[in-house]
Amino acid sequence: MFIEGKWVDSQNHETLKAINPATSETIDTFPKGTVEDARRAIDAAVAARSKAEDMTAYERSKILYKVSQLLESNSADMAKLIALNVGKPIADAEAETARAALVLTFAAEEAKRLYGQTIPLDSHPFPPGNKNRLGFTLREPIGVVGAISPFNFPLNLLLHKVAPALAAGNTVVAKPPSDGPLPGIMIAKLFEQAGLPPGILNVVTGSGSEVGMEIVESPKVNAISFTGDTTTGRLIAEKAAATNKRTILELGGHDPMIILDDADVEKAAKAAAVGVFAYSGQVCTATKRLIVEDGARDQFVRTFSTIVKNLKVGNPLERTTNVGPIINQSGLNKIEQLVGDALNNGAVLVEGGKRLETAEYSHGFFFAPTLLDQVNQDMQIAQKEIFGPVAPVIRASDDSDALAIANGTVYGLQASIFTSNLARGLKLAKKVKAGAVLINDRTNVRWDNAPFGGIKRSGLGREGVSLAITELTELKFIVANLD
Ligand code: NAP
Repeated sequence: MFIEGKWVDSQNHETLKAINPATSETIDTFPKGTVEDARRAIDAAVAARSKAEDMTAYERSKILYKVSQLLESNSADMAKLIALNVGKPIADAEAETARAALVLTFAAEEAKRLYGQTIPLDSHPFPPGNKNRLGFTLREPIGVVGAISPFNFPLNLLLHKVAPALAAGNTVVAKPPSDGPLPGIMIAKLFEQAGLPPGILNVVTGSGSEVGMEIVESPKVNAISFTGDTTTGRLIAEKAAATNKRTILELGGHDPMIILDDADVEKAAKAAAVGVFAYSGQVCTATKRLIVEDGARDQFVRTFSTIVKNLKVGNPLERTTNVGPIINQSGLNKIEQLVGDALNNGAVLVEGGKRLETAEYSHGFFFAPTLLDQVNQDMQIAQKEIFGPVAPVIRASDDSDALAIANGTVYGLQASIFTSNLARGLKLAKKVKAGAVLINDRTNVRWDNAPFGGIKRSGLGREGVSLAITELTELKFIVANLD
C-alpha cells in the first residue's frame, strides 16, 4: 500500500491473493489493509492538504502530464497486468491503458482551467450600493477525496477519480477493488516516480466493507467518489450522509439497445456484438437488453446468432480472443442463475446458455456467449443487472412499447437506438430515461472528458474529467465593496 509516500504492508501483515480469472492461479499477493491502515492513510491525506493546496495549477498539471507520459512508456506492462488480473482481452486492456493516459492528460489540461466567474451584482436593486460591489466565484479543493473503484476498469475508473481530484488540488485516499488491485498499485508507483509530494495520493488495499467503509465513514474525508454496484452505492450514500459528505456515485446499469423496424439490421447486430460481449459483458454500460421491434426481429435474431456463434472464447492474452472469463466464481453463479430463471420462464435459447467446463476452460470462470429470444419484462434477467456475456432479446410491437420496456427498470445509465430515421430516433431519445442516449451506436461507449453518469438507481452526479472537477471542488463567492 502507498501511504504518506511510503510503500507499506498492512498493519497485521495479512495478505490477499490476486487471481487470474482465466486460470484461477494466484499471480501475486497484496496487503489486506485494516481499519487502522485506512485511518493512517486518511491522516496522511489530511496532513498533506496544505501541501496540495499550495501547489500552483501549473505544478499540478505538470505532474499529471508526467504520469501520463510514464503510463504511455509502461503501457505494454500495464495492459498485460490488466489482462492477467481481471481477465480482460489484451486489445481491450490496451485500450483501457491508452484511455487512462488520456484521462491524465485531460486532467492536466483541466487543472489550468479552474475558472471562477464574475457575478453582476449591479443586476440586484437590493441591498443598495451594488454598483460599487465586485462579486466573483472561486473553485476551491473540497479536501480529502475517498476514491473507491470497481474491478472492471481497474485502471481507468480509478483514474477517473484520482486525476480530477488531484487536478483540483485535493488529496486522495484510493481503495482499488480486491478483484483487480494490481493496476491501481502500479499507477501509484508512477505518481511517485513523477514526483507527487508524499501524502497527496494514498492507496489502501483490502476489503470494501472494512477499508472502504472506514473511508466512507471517516469525518476527516470530505467527498466520496464511488463506482460500483448499486447496492454498495446505496449503502455508501447512507453512511456518507452521517458526516454530510459529497458523494458522486456511478452505479449499475441495465442498458437497452432499441432496434426499430426501419433499422439497418446488419449494423445493429454488429454493434450489439460489441455492446453485449465486450469484456464478457462486465461493463456498466454493456448492452443488457436488445429491444427489437417486430418488423426487424426475425432478421435481427438470425444475423446476430451467426455473429454470437462465431465469437471466440479463450485466454485474454491471445489476440484472437473475443470473450474472456468472468471475474470470479460468484459472478459466474449469478449469470447461471439469471439465465436459468429466464429459460424456466419461457425464454428460448438460441446460443450458449451454460458455463464452459471442458479441459481448456476448466480452471477459469468461463460462460458461453449466450443469446436468449422471447425474453419478457417479468423475467429476472430483464430487471436485474446481468454482468456476463448474455444477450436477452425482448420483442416490442411499436415505438411506444419499446420505450415502455426500455424505461421499465430501476436503472438509467445509457441506452441506444437503431433507426434509419434520425428524427424518429431523436423523438424517442428525448423520452428514454437515461444519462446518455446514443443513436446508431452501441451503448458501451464513453468519451473520457464528456458528461457521463446515470439517473434513477444508476447514479448520482456526473463524471467526465472537467465535470468530476466541478463535483470535487467547492464554489466560494467573494464580494469586495469598493466604496
Ligand atoms: P462493488 O462490489 O460495488 O465494488 C466496488 C468497490 O467498492 C470495490 O473497491 C469494493 O471493494 C468496494 N466496496 C464494497 N463494499 C463496500 C463498502 N461497504 N464500503 C465501501 N466500499 C465498498 O462493484 P464491482 O463488482 O467491483 O463492480 C461492478 C459494478 O460496478 C456493476 O454493478 C457495474 O455496473 C458497476 N459499474 C458502474 C460504472 C459506472 O460508471 N456507472 C462503471 C463500472 C462499473 P472490494 O473489491 O474489496 O469488495
